[in-house]
Amino acid sequence: MPSDPASKIERLREEIRRHDRKYYVEAAPEITDLEYDRLVERLKRLEAEHPELLSPDSPTQRVGDRPVEGLVQVEHRVPMLSIENTYSIEELQKYGQRTTKLLDNKPGEPIEWVVELKIDGVAVSLLYELGRLVRGVTRGDGRAGDDITHNVRTIGGVPLRLDGKKVPAALEVRGEIYMTNSDLVKLNESQRRDGKPPFANTRNVTAGSIRQLDSRVCARRGLRIFCHGVGYAEGLRAATHMEFLDELRGYGLPVTPQAECFNSFNAAVDHCEGLIERLHELDFEIDGLVLKLNRFDQRERLGSTAKSPRWLIAYKFEKYEATTRLNEIRVQIGKTGAITPVAELEPVELAGSTVSRASLHNADEIERKDVRPGDVVVVEKAGKIIPHIVRVEKHERTGRPRKFVFPTECPECGTVLVKDSGGVYIRCPNLQCPAQVRERIRFYAGRNAMDIEGLGEVLVDQLVGEGLVSGYSDLYRLEDRQDRLLGMERMGRKSVDNLLDGIEACKNRGLARLLCALSIRHVGARVSAVLAEHFRSMDALQAASVEQLSEIDEIGPIIAASVYDFLHGKFGTETIDDLREVGVKMESVAPADEGSRVLEGKTLVVTGTLVKYTRDEIKELIVRHGGRAASSVSKKTDYVVAGENAGSKLAKAEQLGVPVLSEAEFEGLINRT
Ligand SMILES: [Zn+2]
Repeated sequence: MPSDPASKIERLREEIRRHDRKYYVEAAPEITDLEYDRLVERLKRLEAEHPELLSPDSPTQRVGDRPVEGLVQVEHRVPMLSIENTYSIEELQKYGQRTTKLLDNKPGEPIEWVVELKIDGVAVSLLYELGRLVRGVTRGDGRAGDDITHNVRTIGGVPLRLDGKKVPAALEVRGEIYMTNSDLVKLNESQRRDGKPPFANTRNVTAGSIRQLDSRVCARRGLRIFCHGVGYAEGLRAATHMEFLDELRGYGLPVTPQAECFNSFNAAVDHCEGLIERLHELDFEIDGLVLKLNRFDQRERLGSTAKSPRWLIAYKFEKYEATTRLNEIRVQIGKTGAITPVAELEPVELAGSTVSRASLHNADEIERKDVRPGDVVVVEKAGKIIPHIVRVEKHERTGRPRKFVFPTECPECGTVLVKDSGGVYIRCPNLQCPAQVRERIRFYAGRNAMDIEGLGEVLVDQLVGEGLVSGYSDLYRLEDRQDRLLGMERMGRKSVDNLLDGIEACKNRGLARLLCALSIRHVGARVSAVLAEHFRSMDALQAASVEQLSEIDEIGPIIAASVYDFLHGKFGTETIDDLREVGVKMESVAPADEGSRVLEGKTLVVTGTLVKYTRDEIKELIVRHGGRAASSVSKKTDYVVAGENAGSKLAKAEQLGVPVLSEAEFEGLINRT
């Protein structure tokens, strides 16, 4: 150990900075908060003994001891422009096409797009000179903002000194200061203990804290930062955004998480749709996603308008929040046995509709958010996704509500539940479980599967409840139980005939629909169509090995294993034998039949909202008739099927002279034999 105080102090500072980086940048702390505090205390003591060694970038110097007199306006060296916003996928696609055209790339020059989360916080610019933090400024009006250096210094994730030997001579990095939902829960609890009013949301706390004159107030709020952009820089090495993020990480700056790069705009847009469904997993608020060009040289070519850069766009979604009471947590059992917790809420008005349930997704989420029956919760609805719970207003807790105990046995059949290998889902493994039977039969009869007319969800519940149906094949034996059917509530002669006709008709839906209807894990409409197309009959499919299955395009090893296990397991073989016995067709439908080959070799693109079909349904139809459903229009596209509000794809089709079909015209095409 070095004995001179200067080296001792420098070592400790290095150690603390390393732990800051572990905590804020890598999210992988090595020591506890208490151990960390002890290190800082030790450093403070040493610095007090040797005041001549004190330096402004020491980790002990984050909080000032007296308030500043007022906030001073500072001009930005490079203006902080705003971002162009869009609110629909169609608008987003239009932007993508416009930008690609504008970019006019050379043949073979890739155009890559990065998708990032758009953090709902307060925009800030941090200026580092020779690696030292010299200033923090709010965005303000974009030309000039408030100097908030004293508060920015208190934010744990903001390094006072950049890491590494080679730091840029000047670096103005831009980011968003924010607060996590769980920190807000804690803050509001302490507000309540101090008899102060709670804060409404994380954004308000952030905006209010960052403008405090006394940095000691801001320091207590636990703010954080994510960096995502650059203003003025000298000596930056990165040539692309992904490299830039890596470079920032290397300096010890936290960057926006989950940034991903794609080699086409369409792929980036597809990714956006998936991200939105996983909003509930984030512990911080986002108000959209940002798509930006990866390469800096391409950004330069595009430049900016007076208001905003041309190389990036925000895809925002309307979010609505409401506060209500959670009365109860129930669990739902899905068709494959997955158990999903659902929050039963005191009905509350949210974006023009009444919300009385919210998904809790899984046991881990209940644990992480510490949601308990009786809690006051904040529910959020964003876009078309199911409402989810953002946080618990713990400061409103009265008494000690009991934690929700996740059942260890299936509430419907009593079987001991099992945890998915590697997954977060908990499952009832009993394939005969009445809840699963009900869900499976509902699905089997549904429009995506066997499409049985006259068999709705309520009737399925009745049939299963009466013990008339416990497996798929029982449906086909109902004609022998007509007396029982007629005895059921709301079942007259006409509805019984209707039901039996519907069941009879569904025997000939063909292999693709049957496979989809069987609720095999990982097997939906698309995979079913691929399998049916390839094997043409159940016999051929059953004879295939796992290897043969996984060699097929679009069928990976996980799907292959799932299909194989189902087809060779007891439940699967019995189910198929039973269905065969009652006369369900096990082959791909013949060309003269439903699945004509009129679209053989043709590529179709669907756009806009259709009246009769969902996207999956029409894509399945296309495949079943021998065609290929693509997602973007090119010269190779044979037809575009356009519904209501068709946007850019329709325009592209017209531009390229690709024939455009209405929904009715498409139906005419496939019914022609
Ligand atoms: Zn069960």
